[in-house]
Amino acid sequence: KARKRFGQNFLQDESIIRRIIRAINPKPEQHLVEIGPGLGALTEEILDATGRLDAIELDRDLVPILRTKFFNYGNQFTVHEADAMRFDFQQLIQDDRPLRIIGNLPYNISTQLIFHLLSHSHIIEDMHFMLQKEVVLRLAAGPGENNYGRLGIMAQYFCKVENLFLVPPSAFHPAPKVDSAIVRLVPYKTLPYPAKDHQLFQQVVRTAFGQRRKTLRNNLKELIDSDALERIEIDPNLRPERLSLADFVKISDYLADIKG
Ligand code: SAM
Repeated sequence: KARKRFGQNFLQDESIIRRIIRAINPKPEQHLVEIGPGLGALTEEILDATGRLDAIELDRDLVPILRTKFFNYGNQFTVHEADAMRFDFQQLIQDDRPLRIIGNLPYNISTQLIFHLLSHSHIIEDMHFMLQKEVVLRLAAGPGENNYGRLGIMAQYFCKVENLFLVPPSAFHPAPKVDSAIVRLVPYKTLPYPAKDHQLFQQVVRTAFGQRRKTLRNNLKELIDSDALERIEIDPNLRPERLSLADFVKISDYLADIKG
């Protein structure tokens, strides 16, 4: 029986499963990591196509089911009974192969988990997630769009973001109340807009979106005054959702310079 507290909605639509596997396109020499494999709807096809798969599953009742089901794959398959939010992904790196992360994520933890994974983006080749449609729209949104905000900016700072396709509630059992979508995040090898100080950049973005309906002048007043914003050609009367990623980097770099 599916457990609500673990955000369990199991994929049952074979054509959607095939479409997801095609989008991921696993290859024999690759190292995949599946977050929340559940009953293994995506797992088997991935195992057939790839070199190695580590699965991270929090529900301890599912762990033995997965181990039994995929026993034949021997060392190729490992289940970690763990919380993906606290999981150290670095420990999975054994050779030089970067990780390809996949997961039909529990919706209640998806944004926090993405922030956690972004901090590991140097060891990640790409990520494919099933998420609530709104979260995918937020990840992919640009300046001025409704869903644009901190999540999209931080994701786009580290990754190229692609909204791949929609998945209707009927593809799952039990059916969730919301539409879902598949997103691909590909970490940049070289960041297009590197900030001089990553921590400071994150702080600027978080503070700028403190209150969406307020201007930059108000949201950022503890960090930078409006004269300084004007000096770097950013209008302090704008709302944060008007600024591009490059603008946020500019503010952060200005602050990094005066901090010395
Ligand atoms: N991948 C399966 C599928 O597509 O049918 C299951 C998807 S279900 C939406 C989410 C899965 O994530 C469940 O198996 C749940 O137990 C697991 N899960 C929930 N929270 C987790 C966490 N913090 N870390 C790892 N797995 C988690």
